[in-house]
Amino acid sequence: MIVTRFAPSPTGYLHIGGLRTALYSYLWARKNGGKFLLRIEDTDEARNSVEAAQAIIEAFKWVGMEHDGEILYQSRRREIYTRYIEQLLEEGKAYRCYMSKEELESIREAQKAAKERPRYPGTYRDFTGTPPAGIEPVIRIKAPTEGHIRVDDGIKGSIDFPVADMLDDFIIARADGSPTYNFVVAIDDALMGVTDVIRGDDHLSNTPKQIVVYNALGFKVPKFFHVAMINNPEGKKLSKRDGATDVMAYDTMGYLPEALLNFLVRLGWSHGDQEIFSREEMLTLFDPNHINNSSSSFNQEKLDWLNAHYIKNMPNVELAHRLVPFGVDLKGHDKIEMILDLLKERAKTMVHLKALIDELLIAPRVYDETAAQKALKGDAIEVLKAFRTRLAASTALHLPSDYHVLMEATIGELGVGFGKIGMPLRVALLGAMTGPAIDAVMAVLGIESTLARIDSFIAWQATH
Ligand code: GLU
Repeated sequence: MIVTRFAPSPTGYLHIGGLRTALYSYLWARKNGGKFLLRIEDTDEARNSVEAAQAIIEAFKWVGMEHDGEILYQSRRREIYTRYIEQLLEEGKAYRCYMSKEELESIREAQKAAKERPRYPGTYRDFTGTPPAGIEPVIRIKAPTEGHIRVDDGIKGSIDFPVADMLDDFIIARADGSPTYNFVVAIDDALMGVTDVIRGDDHLSNTPKQIVVYNALGFKVPKFFHVAMINNPEGKKLSKRDGATDVMAYDTMGYLPEALLNFLVRLGWSHGDQEIFSREEMLTLFDPNHINNSSSSFNQEKLDWLNAHYIKNMPNVELAHRLVPFGVDLKGHDKIEMILDLLKERAKTMVHLKALIDELLIAPRVYDETAAQKALKGDAIEVLKAFRTRLAASTALHLPSDYHVLMEATIGELGVGFGKIGMPLRVALLGAMTGPAIDAVMAVLGIESTLARIDSFIAWQATH
């Protein structure tokens, strides 16, 4: 069975890089009928793990991604780690190191001066004498002293890390007894039964150390997938300065979760040149072995394009439902279909769609002066009034084409061009020269509201 996990350090929110590796882990587990677990790496007690977990769960809920089983908190597993530290000490695979900070520092300085890699020289590795007084020891693991540590990575291939270049007997427990990062990660992944670790390649250099821990404890080493970072368009690591990195900020900005997930799945993975992936397609097609081995670039236009795509293609009933949290309640409006058909084609985000709906449904409180001046050139107001008379005498107008016929009849009678009625109507109904097709606007508003808006405009222009 494939078991994957997402193991965020609690930063208070879920960032989009994290959501991407979580998505990859989720898809890979679900595709294989496996498990997707969640672990909060909250050993830094200054941070509030409960809030962080909530933020992550909220984001998972928003995108419709569920983890399996209980959430694991590293802060609650200290006893487990202590037990393994003791086991390694008993087995002679770890040892107490009494080197003072000052001594270690001076060794490092000397190594640097000799252009050597700073490393712990193994002073207490086989120490049998009497420990120096007054020093609380740290615990170091016996790492291999030569050869290579091989990481079989599903994305980067096999990488041999020469021990001489990057390993020493690293600390697994500090002087106060607290276990260190790479030690607990390896233990947790092993005890959780994680088979496939999918994470950012900023962790690649930790992997050899974690493998040392796996080996010392006789745990099976999982398969690793180190995913290249998401960069900003300038090729630098994505940061807060590049816009929102908090996943939930995308909700606030009016991005649909399906658009964001589609965007993220493609950032670093592809299937031919396909751009649009439904959840089902992601589940069928995603394979971490096909993740690109190069960093991807955050492309705002692509995200906007995908978002517009998902808004445009969403059934109106669903779209109306999703608009509610944005303060748009179309329930009970008899023209829902018409309104959304008219506007969703143009919306970039849900926030934008709300603005478009408001523009349409809320009568203009001000009129764009320049547009009004342009629209009212010559005898346009008379044309508008003639249209008004015709409209007031009409019944049973439903479709945009019904209103269009009325507009044609008006200009036909007066022998003027279409602009003479189109432009003043547009300003009267929408307050500006922009907006959707004016016959469709009238079909949405209906006869009464259209008349009311025309009357307000006629009254306004009379005083200008
Ligand atoms: N806690 C680490 C992070 O948030 C991830 C550790 C891992 O995936 O192994 O970057």
